[in-house]
Amino acid sequence: MYAPPLARLIEALSKLPTIGPKTAQRLAYHILRMAPQDAEALAQAILEARALTRYCSICWNLTDVDPCSICSNPQRTSSVICVVEDPRDVVAMERTREVKGKYHVLHGAISPLDGMGPDDLKIAGLLERVRRDQVQEVIIATNPRAEGEVTALYLAKVLKPLGVRVTRIAYGVPVGADLEYADEVTLAKALEGRREI
Ligand SMILES: [Zn+2]
Repeated sequence: MYAPPLARLIEALSKLPTIGPKTAQRLAYHILRMAPQDAEALAQAILEARALTRYCSICWNLTDVDPCSICSNPQRTSSVICVVEDPRDVVAMERTREVKGKYHVLHGAISPLDGMGPDDLKIAGLLERVRRDQVQEVIIATNPRAEGEVTALYLAKVLKPLGVRVTRIAYGVPVGADLEYADEVTLAKALEGRREI
């Protein structure tokens, strides 16, 4: 039906999230109509993003330098750590400009149905940071749905014996929604209204 190189492009695009076969086809035809230098820039951007980004060895956020620019920023206190599920949530929280401390990215949430337990998350490094950096508060900003709640309760259980204050962001964030889709005002309010757990 398609010339083989075009078929390969459509197949590759259809592996992206939310891209069905119809959209993949539309995007592929669009790419073929792009100016050659634009298509090349797109391909190059994909290769470079893959080659030049990695996870920060301290907070597990995506970065091109290790430690990341947040972890190595002396203006930000190490005594507050905001815990999120996904690197995209760091971007969402940063938009509020309310987090004065640093982050820790779990890379998921506890979800027995999906076979995700505490050992599958980046929790060990978090405990180590709390012990080492005299952390005073851990703000848990996991997503406001069942998995995020279970994760928050688990974290509170393992963090509290270390003598740190553990707080959970308030429900300005719609229940069942993803943090990354909340606007910054809602998120800032959720952060402001955080309570101890
Ligand atoms: Zn970092």
